[in-house]
Amino acid sequence: MDEKRCILCNKPYNYKYVMFGRSCLDNLYDLLGFSKSPRIIWNKELYLCTRIAWKNHKFFLNKKKKYALAQKYIALTYLNTMNYEALEDIKEKILNDIKNIKTFSKNIIETISFSLNEVYKLVNYVHKFNEILEEIKEFNWEEADEEIAEKFIKNMSFIFDLTKKTNPISYAVFYSMQYIFWQVVVVGGILANMKLSARLLSNSLSIFGQQPQDLVIDDDEITKLIIENKSFKEKIDQLIKKYGQDREDFIVNNEAPKEDILIRFNGGDLLYALHDATMLVNAKKDQDNKWKFEIEINDIYDFTDFKDLKEYADAEEKIRDIFSSTLNNLGVVSSEYGVIQKFNLKIKFETKEGEF
Ligand SMILES: [Zn+2]
Repeated sequence: MDEKRCILCNKPYNYKYVMFGRSCLDNLYDLLGFSKSPRIIWNKELYLCTRIAWKNHKFFLNKKKKYALAQKYIALTYLNTMNYEALEDIKEKILNDIKNIKTFSKNIIETISFSLNEVYKLVNYVHKFNEILEEIKEFNWEEADEEIAEKFIKNMSFIFDLTKKTNPISYAVFYSMQYIFWQVVVVGGILANMKLSARLLSNSLSIFGQQPQDLVIDDDEITKLIIENKSFKEKIDQLIKKYGQDREDFIVNNEAPKEDILIRFNGGDLLYALHDATMLVNAKKDQDNKWKFEIEINDIYDFTDFKDLKEYADAEEKIRDIFSSTLNNLGVVSSEYGVIQKFNLKIKFETKEGEF
């Protein structure tokens, strides 16, 4: 006789049931909120399936349909425990398949197929993910040393598994976990003190099935960050020297040589946020003979550019290595999933000589 394996946990069992081992069957009664079966019931598995059928207002189903219905209903219940928006479409399909199981229909129509063991494994992944997430939420990133931070992130690296992308259910679940990882751990945690970087990464996270919007920034906080940066001052000095001698105005636009419009910020938030930005300048002298500038900084935000940043960052920056190695690699996987996507970024502001 063939060895029987539980279709939920895949462990072998030798009992009369068709689908589940005994402990899984007990757990399913709990999961579905059913009271224990009366003693008199001989086949607790069939009884479970009958009760699922009744709950779905289906009567007189044959055994085959009852078992099929039970599997779909159990999967749906498990997926509901995950509470991920990205699963809505799949749950809808399973619900429809359940509706289509009818007493007198000939075949069972399936718009989505899966194995319960797959769903069961996903439940366990999500459980593990949520446990680590709870720990990480308590974590103080500012005071953490790099090693601990790295360890935390590595504990979570199982959610960056490209092989899970091929199956629609696991894709939706892994997508959701990654989305939460970037939003909670990186935007809200590691980057909490880096306002611009946090904002840009957050914008590049796409809601399941959607594209991120392009972003135009023109607020004072970000302007201040830029005009106080050494690279900005140096760039402006350099441009005045080259274009502004004995003149009342000058323009540096996309027709200028590359080295004039490229700007790479040194260190900190700006370095992490803007990677290969170009800066366009419209400069005029005011009545006091001081330069006034209209500035436009453009970039295509691409999280996976971080790998190139290592050589530019200040040596004492703790998070530098986490970004350039670990997080960068995870970012590549999330880009494959479509969780992280590129978008166009524009920062606009005005400033004048003496303000920076
Ligand atoms: Zn089992």
